[in-house]
Order: sequence, then C-alpha cells, then structure tokens
Amino acid sequence: MERPIPIPDDVSKPFWEAANERRLVAQFCVACSEWQHPPERACAECGATPLEFRELSGAGTIYSVHVEHDSRVVVMQQHQPYIVATVLANESPYAVFLTNLPGTSAGDVAFGKDGEQSVHIGARVAVEFEEVGAGRFVPQFRVVS
Ligand SMILES: [Zn+2]
Repeated sequence: MERPIPIPDDVSKPFWEAANERRLVAQFCVACSEWQHPPERACAECGATPLEFRELSGAGTIYSVHVEHDSRVVVMQQHQPYIVATVLANESPYAVFLTNLPGTSAGDVAFGKDGEQSVHIGARVAVEFEEVGAGRFVPQFRVVS
C-alpha cells in the first residue's frame, strides 16, 4: 500500500541515505559523547557542532504507543487504525524513532499493565527497513519479545 516518502533536508540527508542502504544511524556528539535523533543542527545537550552520524545496533525498546484512528495524513487514512510508537535506541534515550511496528495491529496494543499483548511499553524491538518507493527505505521496528 502507498506510504509517505521522506523528503530529506540538509540536516537529515545522511540519515535517509543510510536508511536507503538499510543502515540505522543517528547523530553522535563527539564533544559530549551523546546520541540524538531526530537530526538537529547542533547537539541538544551541549550545543556543539558539527555532529557525526554513527551506526546504531538497531535494538531498542518501546517508550510510548498510540493508535491512530483519525489521521490528518491523507495517504495514511487507508491504514487506519494503525500504530504509532516511539522507540528509544538501546544506545541512548536521546535517540528516539517513530515506527508503525510492522507485524502488529491495533488489537495487539496493551494499554493496561497486565496485558499479554505483544505491544507494550518496554517491549524490545529490532530495526528493519520498509521500502516505500524505488530504492527508498524507512526504518521500522518489529517487536522481538
Ligand atoms: Zn554534545
């Protein structure tokens, strides 16, 4: 099905180029040894520039989960209801990614702490890459626990 295709800018271009090679990268600040994602012009922690892009393991945990029933993104309305989760990379809580958690559906989301569903805060995930256009890939994360 049709999906939005990212439009890189000068700050995010290295991230999307790596994604097209099926590599997950994030900015790394050499000055304070902190990661950050999404990409910014300067380090949010110490203000240093420039920042390097370094490869991440692709492992992370779910920080928050949302089920979208009424998207304002027209191309995404055909996918409703769909999951939007935030994932924190294992390397840093400041490397934050959005994902639709492929392989799951809205009914898999556990909003109560006793849920046995696969999608819950703290669940472990691993990166994979979804082809959204010819040679254009977007990182997604799949639940592994
Ligand atoms: Zn820094």
